[in-house]
Amino acid sequence: MATLPLISAAGKRLEGKVAMITGGASGIGEATARLFSKHGAHVVIADIQDHLGLSLSKELESASYIHCDVTNEDHVENAVNTVVSKHGKLDTMFNNAGITGANKTSILDNTKSEFEAVINVNLVGVFLGTKHAARVMIPAGRGSIVNTASVCGSIGGVASHAYTSSKHGVVGLTRNTAVELGAFGVRVNCVSPYVVATPLAKNFFKLDDKGVHGVYTNLKGAVLEPKDVAEAALYLASDESKYVSGHNLVVDGAFTVVNNGFC
Ligand code: NAD
Repeated sequence: MATLPLISAAGKRLEGKVAMITGGASGIGEATARLFSKHGAHVVIADIQDHLGLSLSKELESASYIHCDVTNEDHVENAVNTVVSKHGKLDTMFNNAGITGANKTSILDNTKSEFEAVINVNLVGVFLGTKHAARVMIPAGRGSIVNTASVCGSIGGVASHAYTSSKHGVVGLTRNTAVELGAFGVRVNCVSPYVVATPLAKNFFKLDDKGVHGVYTNLKGAVLEPKDVAEAALYLASDESKYVSGHNLVVDGAFTVVNNGFC
């Protein structure tokens, strides 16, 4: 029996697939929406920035926008149900929405509510996205869930306690769910970017044209572009990674290999 090519004749790696991207209106999510669309996927942008998300969806060849606060289980459940009722399936769930919260250095300055706010978006949001994607992927017997963690999911001392805790949590949740869902043909992986030039990082690190102050990198001071992370998400979403699951794909030019936080 002939095997299906992983890459279509036109070089499109997600031809016919349906992908939902949380935090898809800006930054890494936006770049991923553009790349997935270019590779033939129908993209569902799920975000709380309605104006940005809607206008991006109109720009792309095959895309739609849905208002979805990832901390609200009803929103996530309804968004996944809407995707399946309109398109008959969900092939890829990119749980990417995230916030940094306040950049406070001492735990003594952190309030419980500030800590919880970051955990709610970055970790509970990924939990809800994974749960509801799995609910429809398990009966389908296939699917790829990709979560956005961070280099802060592997090392300490770069960001706030809440952010670092949330991203370590995303790596752990990815590993646990990969083990459970593998039996149903569903893969779960995460991407862990170094600093990426997005609105989030520009605010947090006060990025300017010279890069990130105070962060040593062997990338000669380079800051990643959102597309650099989108390419990693594309690989994990595509059938080219069909045997890759439970993996943390670090996109950092070896930053976490040579560093343990700021140098
Ligand atoms: P960004 O601010 O450009 O995009 C984040 C998107 O998430 C925004 O569109 C925002 O509206 C959305 N969002 C925030 N809260 C939400 C909620 N409750 N429900 C739904 N959507 C929500 O930032 P980005 O840098 O593209 O961040 C994307 C992901 O990448 C985040 O998880 C972030 O932690 C992670 N990350 C970023 C960097 C970096 O340097 N930029 C590095 C490592 C990891």
